[in-house]
Amino acid sequence: MLGLMQDQPLLISSLIEFAERHHGDGEIVSRRVEGDIHRYTWADVARRARQVANALEGEDLLFSDRVATLAWNGYRHLELYYGVSGSGRVLHTINPRLHPDQIAWIANHAEDQILCFDLNFLPLVQAVHARCPTVKRWIALCDADKLPADSGIPGLLSYEAWMGDRSTDYAWPRFDENSASSMCYTSGTTGNPKAALYSHRSTLLHAYAAALPDVMGISARDSVLPVVPMFHVNAWGIPYSAALTGCKLVFPGPALDGKSVYELIEAEGVTFAAGVPTVWQMLLTHMKPGGLRFSTLKRTVIGGSACPPAMIHAFQQDYGVDVLHAWGMTEMSPLGTLCTLKNKHLTMPADAQDAIRQKQGRAIFGVDMKIIDGNGAELPWDGKASGDLLVKGPWIVKEYFKGEGGDPLVPDAQGHGWFPTGDVATIDADGFLQITDRSKDVIKSGGEWISSIDIENIAVAHPAVLMAACIGVAHPKWDERPVVAVVKRPGAEVTREELLKFYEGKTAKWQIPDDVLFVEAIPLGATGKILKTRLREQFKDYRLPGL
Ligand code: ADP
Repeated sequence: MLGLMQDQPLLISSLIEFAERHHGDGEIVSRRVEGDIHRYTWADVARRARQVANALEGEDLLFSDRVATLAWNGYRHLELYYGVSGSGRVLHTINPRLHPDQIAWIANHAEDQILCFDLNFLPLVQAVHARCPTVKRWIALCDADKLPADSGIPGLLSYEAWMGDRSTDYAWPRFDENSASSMCYTSGTTGNPKAALYSHRSTLLHAYAAALPDVMGISARDSVLPVVPMFHVNAWGIPYSAALTGCKLVFPGPALDGKSVYELIEAEGVTFAAGVPTVWQMLLTHMKPGGLRFSTLKRTVIGGSACPPAMIHAFQQDYGVDVLHAWGMTEMSPLGTLCTLKNKHLTMPADAQDAIRQKQGRAIFGVDMKIIDGNGAELPWDGKASGDLLVKGPWIVKEYFKGEGGDPLVPDAQGHGWFPTGDVATIDADGFLQITDRSKDVIKSGGEWISSIDIENIAVAHPAVLMAACIGVAHPKWDERPVVAVVKRPGAEVTREELLKFYEGKTAKWQIPDDVLFVEAIPLGATGKILKTRLREQFKDYRLPGL
């Protein structure tokens, strides 16, 4: 017997319809590429998203055709999120920090038909457009009078000229909720880019889940700043959860430096912000010397790579801002776990609470997780046993776009497919996940594992250290030994010996790195994460002292 509830597909268009009707006057504030601040409302987003849909109807596109963006976080990008997916096309957000060769490769692989870009990416588009034969329309996200006269891009149109005079009437089509809505290529730190292809259903379920109180806890009373980019994994789903809750949205545009982000937080009464640790590092570095304080910021989600304990401490104890440490991946839409405390933790001393916040947190309803040993046997949730982390759930990929990489899932005894995350983790009795490392970054020394994250966290707790990255280097006896590459804070001094001494008592003696490599900069990937592959390449001729 089937239930007798209405059969209404979960579609992205329903989010924008809801936003318009229920919080049409809610504010969307964007710092534009031009540098000025743009303000309008959810009703305006909805109206202009319908104009985008009408403009797309004029482009001879098929259902599920890909429309790409190379754009910062801003209101026009948001209109494309709704106009493209809502009308049944697939929004392909491209990461502009990728190498032009990779961008051309991705646009071809996705068979993008239209590509919309922020004007400051014009040089990038000029470099790749001739190599993107599937793209039949190039659109610059600007006013008609800002369109460069001799761009060299055939048929280049300004976004405003393209959609601005279209009708604001459009009936969003109804279709299968499992239809593709958007796509994102993995940033390639783990090999060739492969695309996760999200569906309307997966996106809506993720949007509901992300807004829950023990997840991001977004409400109509929040002013939300996604520093995390809309060009990578849909800004952690915030553009969708925001429409669902009616919060104010504040977009930073291209200005991600500490000063600009701080000023935006203060000017727009931001209560909740989301970003990767490197962005928050820039913010805290800007705030500290002048003794700046937050007047409205209450919570910040930090994820994408491990949040150093020193950063958690600074936000929690120096600034009174709650840190929600989160873990996820492109293949997971991206949210998997988020660290909010349970009732029994609230009476603990602040330092003990911070120790829990260092973990990546509890699984969100909708995400099943388990850790397994080398033979595939499930490991206990005791906070000690560490194994390969597998996940399953309705917003986790079952395969990659065009079947690249074959079937990624690992079946269990019941035949259910689990996605192997490539991460190594522990899970404690309360269900708190802690990522030990990425499996390929773990350092294997004498048959034992050393977590590169632990080694990095200790280094960045030293006052003279701005950034640290730990890699394993070959050793004839131990197979691998850890060394740590370190960027010093401007004007600060620390010697190799002082830093190695700093490790004593903070980790087991045999886990202390064998050497400290002082560097000017640590290579970062397109999503602001440390590029260990590049670092290993950089030190491929390095030999450990005494060998
Ligand atoms: P890519 O795989 O393309 O680098 P993703 O953005 O999908 O990009 O990255 C997912 C990976 O990032 C995870 O598998 C994990 O290794 C790492 N990661 C994400 N969040 C955290 C976190 N809070 N702590 C530690 N690692 C994290």
